[in-house]
Amino acid sequence: MPHVSPGDPRELAATTRAAFRAAYDIEPLVVGHAPGRVNLIGEHTDYNDGLCLPVALPHRTYVAAAPRDDDLVRISSLQVSEPWAGRLEDVRPGSVPGWAAYAVGVLWALAESGLPVPGMDALVDSTVPLGAGLSSSAALECATAMAALAILGEEASETRLRMLVGVCMRAESEVAGAPTGGMDQTVALLAEPDSALLIDFAAGSTRAVSLGPDAPHILVLDTGVSHSLNDGGYAARRRDCEEAARRLDLVTLRDATLADLDRLDDERLVRRARHVVTEIARVERTVTEIEGGEWERVGGVFVESHASMRDDFEISCPELDLAVDTALAAGALGARMTGGGFGGSAIALVPPDDRGRVATAVGEAFVAAGWTAPSTLIASPSGAAAVD
Ligand code: ADP
Ligand code: MG
Repeated sequence: MPHVSPGDPRELAATTRAAFRAAYDIEPLVVGHAPGRVNLIGEHTDYNDGLCLPVALPHRTYVAAAPRDDDLVRISSLQVSEPWAGRLEDVRPGSVPGWAAYAVGVLWALAESGLPVPGMDALVDSTVPLGAGLSSSAALECATAMAALAILGEEASETRLRMLVGVCMRAESEVAGAPTGGMDQTVALLAEPDSALLIDFAAGSTRAVSLGPDAPHILVLDTGVSHSLNDGGYAARRRDCEEAARRLDLVTLRDATLADLDRLDDERLVRRARHVVTEIARVERTVTEIEGGEWERVGGVFVESHASMRDDFEISCPELDLAVDTALAAGALGARMTGGGFGGSAIALVPPDDRGRVATAVGEAFVAAGWTAPSTLIASPSGAAAVD
């Protein structure tokens, strides 16, 4: 089964520069780069003002860029065939079709925030799998934002990085037209090496949680399927959560307790709210167990989380369930689906020696079910976006 290597960041920055030179016949000024991410735990909690715990992937998106004297923007990507060109002053929500909206949307949102963004030429390369629930979209936004910030001669201070989170969220939600809760952009811009990032959406705060030297490997199994393209599952779950909070007289489910759920008379809303309330508690337990080095217990929390998403929130699918069940049977300490659900990826915590065995077992189970074996990668916790 295919294994996706992150590549060497130095080498990839150099090859992105070379591809830029070949495309535009000039030297790029900067290469901005930003990681994809995988969420360890805390699913569908962002829009409920809850907690989540993503790690930045070693897999990154690289954006080589050079400023122009006019306000033309030209951008191409080695992952897609259609380049995009247009004037910055013509960019607005809905004006940029396709993939380029994620990058050009960042330039638009930066300009909206008052920065004097010039036209630029840009070239994108990436080792983050696209559309696998590993946030290639935020990696593209944040790499573009870092390149633009460097072109503007601005330092990437913590205040600036926090502002860029909002800029990249605006690009995705307003220009690319995809709703986003902010987890992806936050971890891409603020992650610390060897750590997961605890994000508290109610407090608007983040804290790095060191994974320690004895952490198992985080094996990502990309099922390659998406069942959510046109059935609106994400929006429906969000509506259920908002309705449950409204009936409980709460702003969001962050403030709900398990006892509160007795006051809901709709069985579906009870299950939706129960997922959110228990998932937020599981994020807290995961942090405690990680900090105590109790990885077996972290694995147990993962298993509970998967059951909650499968049975209460109903966002799993047969492929994700098979990946999780097979990984556990093959010796993973814990496994769960990750991301928004209805397809995408599962993660398994595996002792380094068992990694090949778990990946092979899952691949064989998929083939036996008549499906294509998942592609895999190892999410060694990486650092935040940077410039080269
Ligand atoms: P995910 O963020 O989970 O990978 P999304 O659907 O949110 O999935 O974002 C994927 C989209 O982002 C792609 O379909 C493409 O439009 C855009 N994208 C991401 N990375 C790149 C890239 N390297 N080159 C071109 N487009 C990209
Ligand atoms: Mg995305």
